[in-house]
Amino acid sequence: MLNIVLFGPPGCGKGTQSEKLIEKYQLVHLSTGDILRAEIANNTKLGIEAKAFMDKGQLVPDQVVIGMIASKIDNNKNAKGFIFDGFPRTTAQAEALDVMLAERNIPVKCMLSLEVDKEELVKRLLNRGLTSGRADDQNPEIIENRIKEYNAKTAPVIQFYEKQGKFRPIKGMGSIDEIFERLCKAIEK
Ligand code: AMP
Repeated sequence: MLNIVLFGPPGCGKGTQSEKLIEKYQLVHLSTGDILRAEIANNTKLGIEAKAFMDKGQLVPDQVVIGMIASKIDNNKNAKGFIFDGFPRTTAQAEALDVMLAERNIPVKCMLSLEVDKEELVKRLLNRGLTSGRADDQNPEIIENRIKEYNAKTAPVIQFYEKQGKFRPIKGMGSIDEIFERLCKAIEK
């Protein structure tokens, strides 16, 4: 099984590159952001709880997102592998994912971390806001909060995978195809 954690700050290209990786390696895409937005669209209790955090650019509490992921893994028993996109976003989430995957004997192969300058991130998010319809992509203050949350709570996840020898930094600037090629090289190494 090919299990990949695709990592990086908001706007680094995780969603775009996930789509290409899924196609090439036939993986199942698990994006906690997408799952949460679907919950909001369906007006579920979980969605209503999560929306209050997402609207402010804050992370949703760990126990909410951790609980969502296990059932998604179990619903895809025949998967060739998973791309975890936007998860784990805290060290507690990374620890919980490790336990979940160890119980199922399907470890993470590598954590690919897309590195993009802050200026470029803000530019990409505001641009995406013009077409995505996502309120959190349209407001510079919310974007700033999301980047702050990333630096404070999410960036430490790098050390978690570095200790396991699974951290692979990838230059996330350049064309979509150039970045995709770098990701594929790191996966196949
Ligand atoms: P994304 O689509 O990955 O940019 O996520 C959009 C928003 O959903 C984030 O700003 C968070 O509020 C929330 N979110 C998504 N994934 C997670 C996660 N793993 N942990 C906590 N909050 C999350």
